[in-house]
This record gives sequence, C-alpha cells and structure tokens, in this order.
Amino acid sequence: MKRIDGTAVLHAAEARVTARTKQSSALFERSRQVLPGGVSSNIRYSAPHPIFIRDARGGRIRDVDGNEYVDCRLGFGPVLLGHAPEGITAAVTRAMTTGTVYALPHEGEVTLAEKIVAAVPGAEMTTFCSSGSEATLHAVRLARAYTGRMKIAKFEGGYHGIHDPVLVSVRYRPEAAGPVQAPRATVESPGIPDGAVADTVVLPYNDPAAFDLVAAHASELAAVIVEPVQGSAGSIPATPEFLAGLRAVTARHGIVLVFDEVITGFRLALGGAQEYYGVRADLAAFGKILGGGFPFGCLAGSRDLMRLLSVPDARAAGRAPVFYGGTFNGNPTSVAAAGATLDFLRDHPEIYPRLAERGDRIRREVAAAAGTAGLPLTALGVGSIFSVRFVPPPVASVRDLAGEDPALLQALFLLLLAEGVLGHSHHSFLSAAHGDEDIARIVQAYRSAFAEIAAVG
Ligand code: PLP
Repeated sequence: MKRIDGTAVLHAAEARVTARTKQSSALFERSRQVLPGGVSSNIRYSAPHPIFIRDARGGRIRDVDGNEYVDCRLGFGPVLLGHAPEGITAAVTRAMTTGTVYALPHEGEVTLAEKIVAAVPGAEMTTFCSSGSEATLHAVRLARAYTGRMKIAKFEGGYHGIHDPVLVSVRYRPEAAGPVQAPRATVESPGIPDGAVADTVVLPYNDPAAFDLVAAHASELAAVIVEPVQGSAGSIPATPEFLAGLRAVTARHGIVLVFDEVITGFRLALGGAQEYYGVRADLAAFGKILGGGFPFGCLAGSRDLMRLLSVPDARAAGRAPVFYGGTFNGNPTSVAAAGATLDFLRDHPEIYPRLAERGDRIRREVAAAAGTAGLPLTALGVGSIFSVRFVPPPVASVRDLAGEDPALLQALFLLLLAEGVLGHSHHSFLSAAHGDEDIARIVQAYRSAFAEIAAVG
C-alpha cells in the first residue's frame, strides 16, 4: 500500500472547495462575528468554512454559490423521504392553519402514539419531546427512578445527545482512555461537573468484556444505553450476537436496556433496530426521521416503565411520578409531520430493501475503487447508513479507527464536495428520493476522490 501525505491532499482539496464556494466564504465571515464558530451546532463547522445552503429538494441540495450536491448528509439523518416531500409538506401546512402550540392535548398526539405503538416492537406506550437529546435524557432519568439505582453505562464512541451524563467518551482518546477491558471515562466538554459523570460507566463496544463490566457494576446500574449502530463514531454496526448478549446480561441483573434509536429508528426498518436485529429493548429513544424534518423526539417502551411518567398511574402504583415536561412536546406541526412520515413508511415497505441494496452497492463499489487506487480503507455501515474510513478492516469499535490520518479523512469529505456529493466523515445516509443515477454519481465521486488522493499524496 502506498503511503499518503494527508496534509498535502487536504491543502489541494481545500483549494478546490474554496474556489467554488466564494459566497459561502463571505457569509461565513459575517456569520462568525455573531454566531460562535459561524454555526448553530459545532458539528456543522468544517475548514475552510461550511457551505451555506440555499435550498434543498428530494435527494439534492444547493449552496448559495449555486453548486448542486447529491445530499448524503440529509440533515444528519432525518431526511429519509427526501427534502420537502409532498405528503409531509401538505400535512404540516394544514396543521399550521389551526395553531402551532396549545399546552393541552389534542387528538393528533393520540393517533400518532397509536401508530408508533403499532410500528415499534416493545413500544406499549410512547411519549413525545422535541429532540433526540431529550428522549435519551428522559430514558436515563426514568431508568434511574424505576430501579432506584443511579449509575448508567454507555459505550465508548456512543453519542446520545447534549446532556451531561452521556457526554462522556464519545471520542476515543488513546492517551486517556485506558485498556479496552475497562475503558476510562473521558469528559467531552469543559463545563461538565465531575459529579455529573461520576455515575457513568464506560463500556467497550462490540466486545464481550462489556458483559463482565455490566455484571461487575450490576447492583448500582440503572441502565445500559447503546446505539445499535454507532453513528457519530463512524457508522459502526453492533453485531447481532453483541446486542443479544447485552440483552441477556441486562435482563439477568434487572438493568434497563435503552436502545438509542435516534439514527436507526425508522431507518433500518419500520420497527427500527429492534425489528432489524430481533432484540427487544426496555426503552427506545427516537428523534430525527420520526419528525419528518421537524424537531421531534420520542421515548417508547414497556407499560411497566412508562407508567412512572404518569402522575395518576405512578401514584396508583405507590410510586413518585417522574418529572416530564416540555413546552413544544407534541406540538401539532411536528405531530402532523411525524404522522405523515409514519403513514408513508407503513404504506411503502419496499423502500427498506431498496435502501439496503443501494447502501450495500455503495460499500461494495467504493471498497473496490479504493483497492484499485491502492488505498487502505474500510467501507462501513449498514443499510442506508454508510461511511468510508482510511483504516484496513475489520472495524468493530472506535478504537479500530485510531490509526487513521484525520487530514486524509477531512480531505475526502472536501473532495467529495468538489465532486458534487455532500456527506459527512462519520455518517452519510441515503434517502428514498435517491435513485440509481444518484448512487452512480456517489460511487463515481469516490472514485475521482481516490484518484486525486493517490495522485497528490
Ligand atoms: N442519539 C444519537 C444516536 C444521535 O445521533 C443524536 C444526534 O445526532 C442524538 C441522540 C441527539 O439528538 P438531537 O440532536 O435531536 O438532540
């Protein structure tokens, strides 16, 4: 295998993107004066500057310079049906004419909850909030209240949103992370108090050593929270055996198993990872796709657990109710978008095998193209979630990515952009609006990027 100078490739890639994104560059200069980093979420920043979007439709997105991209970022996952799909736009437009927030229940919530209960295995009840972060926050608190234990366990590389106890060991820092059999918790941000993460146990992903750690901490663990496919770690799927093993060890010790399905929910299958893997969690957190492009979160699970969120039901069971609130929870606009999304997915089951076939085609053809270019590479992901990383296979956890050159990874993102494909280094996605022609364009963009990397580096 050829040794590549990632920094040289990155400079060449930055020059190509800069030359075609002058309006974005000017907007970024304005933006960074008034928005920290010029963005509304740190993950959206990338050097030399993020591209600014003018509009998006179907599987395509356009920047303010007029460049059109095949959109594989898809809002970091929500846009399963493509941008501005007719059914959702019509449902939302209708809903907006009758008010957008009531602070009282409405029938749409009931109908939506019935649809979720029908679609998601193990969802005997469900409840709404406004983001995936809120859904995982509610899951953690509910599990703590239910079990009376205060520790939770999460996996190295797992991302569960922006609240303190889960902002631990999201990235892998070899110098601080300790041995794989007992990873040390590393905090992701200043401003998180030690106390907020003292109760978080970190586990190794796809490694049976995790089962021993769960058993060792069992008497103090309320919950184990896991992404069935680790998204921001690099689209790393759990093996079915690993999820089954996790189910077994948590059940044995009365620990609540939480699937964070914010990415996998309604993407791997209508019933999410629980259906896809055939493993039942106690609680599942959803967001992204379910909102049909609108802010949404949802927690679903067994009646036994969920009833603690109900003031009368908890009291009737002799328990204190768990606090649950949010001004925009179940707002009619998001509920209308979610309902229209679920109707479409229920009526079009054929999209799942089609998306899976297209995702497999990308992984297969991109891996072959990398081989031709002499690049060590793993094409990761499952179904319509994919990423391409500059390490040889196998990749089972974030630790397997440690040898990667970050400059090369960033260069690949920029070269794809220059070739008309918008993705993300950690996770890219396909939508039902992408056709075979888009898949061919995506594969061709990777081929061109690899050729440039081999030539420049
Ligand atoms: N969980 C996972 C697996 C996610 O990928 C994300 C967001 O990317 C979240 C939770 C948080 O969701 P949100 O950004 O809607 O708060």
